[in-house]
Amino acid sequence: MILEDNLRHKGLRRKLVEEVASKGIADNNVLNALLNVPRHFFMDSGFLNFAYKDQAFPIGSGQTISQPFTVAFQTQLLQVSPMQKVLEVGTGSGYQAAILMELGARLYTIERHRDLFLSAKALLEEMGYRPNCYYGDGYKGLPPFSPFDRIIVTAGASEIPESLVEQLALGGRMVIPVGDESAQTMLLIEKLPDGSIKKSSHGKFVFVPLLKGKAK
Ligand code: SAH
Repeated sequence: MILEDNLRHKGLRRKLVEEVASKGIADNNVLNALLNVPRHFFMDSGFLNFAYKDQAFPIGSGQTISQPFTVAFQTQLLQVSPMQKVLEVGTGSGYQAAILMELGARLYTIERHRDLFLSAKALLEEMGYRPNCYYGDGYKGLPPFSPFDRIIVTAGASEIPESLVEQLALGGRMVIPVGDESAQTMLLIEKLPDGSIKKSSHGKFVFVPLLKGKAK
């Protein structure tokens, strides 16, 4: 694959970042990450016109690349600092993963669809990122690599997975959309230094569902 990021792409991306900022994203590190990652690499080349619209888009296996505003919103809420160990559940296209690595995360990302896992891993490596990609059930997290400073779930969960809360470090933050299939509430779950859990709600979103087990 030839990865071309020309002036036209950069111009479209600048407009998209302005749009995302106008919708309320204020964290400059997050906006810069959006500016630096060519979103069109994560979509089939025929869909270039959609890559820089603030919309979710199909990526195969019945899944979607999240809307840029949603990626920015979750990332801003997560508050990632360089060198933090971050777990992403739902690699999908790999776009959110690239944004997290732009912020300096040591990233572990897990996907239950084998074809998406393989293509995201190959693309991210070709782009020069070095994520730790796993094929498996992210509902269970990655216990051998826990605890994580940050956990981001990019699929809609019907409940908060207890295993993920367990794998969160003291002082850690988890951002996860929780609800039924029609809509989910964005929850921030903080594990305070004394180990107690604080939850807060941050608006309604619609994600593809977080499913248990691996896909075939
Ligand atoms: N972060 C992705 C969003 C992809 S959509 C991106 O930037 O493109 C959500 C993804 O979560 C889908 O690819 C879906 O297959 C995956 N998913 C759903 N349930 C999962 C689970 N239990 N473990 C791992 N991945 C899961």
